[in-house]
Amino acid sequence: MTSSDVLSRRPSHDGRHIVILGTGGTIAGRAEQSTDVVGYKAGQVAVQDLIEGVLGLRRRIDAGWRIESEQVSQVDSKDMSHAIWRRLAERVQHHLDRPEVDGIIVTHGTDTLEETAYLLHRVLAPSRPVVLAAAMRPASAPQPDGPQNLDDALTVVGWPGARGVMAVLGGQVWPGAEVRKVHPYRLDAFSAGDAGPLAHVEAGQLRRLREWPVEQPLGLKVLAADIWPDVQIVTSHAGADGRLVDLLVQVGVQGLVVAATGNGSVHQDLMAALLRAQAAGVLVLRALRGGAGCIVPSSTDLLPDAGALTSAQARIEVLLRLLARRGG
Ligand code: ASP
Repeated sequence: MTSSDVLSRRPSHDGRHIVILGTGGTIAGRAEQSTDVVGYKAGQVAVQDLIEGVLGLRRRIDAGWRIESEQVSQVDSKDMSHAIWRRLAERVQHHLDRPEVDGIIVTHGTDTLEETAYLLHRVLAPSRPVVLAAAMRPASAPQPDGPQNLDDALTVVGWPGARGVMAVLGGQVWPGAEVRKVHPYRLDAFSAGDAGPLAHVEAGQLRRLREWPVEQPLGLKVLAADIWPDVQIVTSHAGADGRLVDLLVQVGVQGLVVAATGNGSVHQDLMAALLRAQAAGVLVLRALRGGAGCIVPSSTDLLPDAGALTSAQARIEVLLRLLARRGG
């Protein structure tokens, strides 16, 4: 579904020209009973209706801002797909190619936001801001957090000099490459591990703590393939073995991420299978199973590591490396 609406047709002299792309998530969620903030359905409310609930919108429109919206998808982000990712990346690029657009907001579910943010960061690495906005409470809740988070996203996207892919939740701004969900319920559910937030949004002001995210973009063409490589995640744990890896290799897996214990350690039986997979041409990366920090490499490592990436982000890294090898 794609719809495009323009909330203000005033020329944006001092104002900003922002595009808001809706993908679904709890921010667009609705429950049968407004008091139910857990048993709701994500991805129900149209992005146009969401932004009309943002109190700071009228003030910005009066100041000459122009705000467009477009519905790219309407899903619970646990069900995010490669097809939606490609469409979203194309729509973000389309609007970035319009010189009059100052920045883009993407409304998204929190569950896979860290993956979408990492994908957009690596593929597009925009020189203008692309801000993912989410919420932990559905739009139907008595006190939803979505409208404030959207307002904060407007502050970030309109901030002079803002650039790169970022995420906004609970008054905190996170770099797209580092953000991860660390809590299933709290309103400040995101973290960037040791690195901390990029900025805080405080009463419509941005207090920046770190540099804007920068990256050498792979470019949209890397996502062009109709069928994306098969990349799976396996986990190292007590009692792990290599059966799953051997089966995945038999069915043609092309990339594997192992969610590793400790500082990237892997159970010896699982490691043996991963080394067999690597020898058979599968691209294998070790990533952290949980927690903050970054795998500290050692000269005795048998498999490359994904640094501070979560295993879900490392999966995208493997996916993109395989796609780049194919030449997009
Ligand atoms: N399941 C929801 C989603 O990821 C959760 C959320 O948005 O907070 O779409």
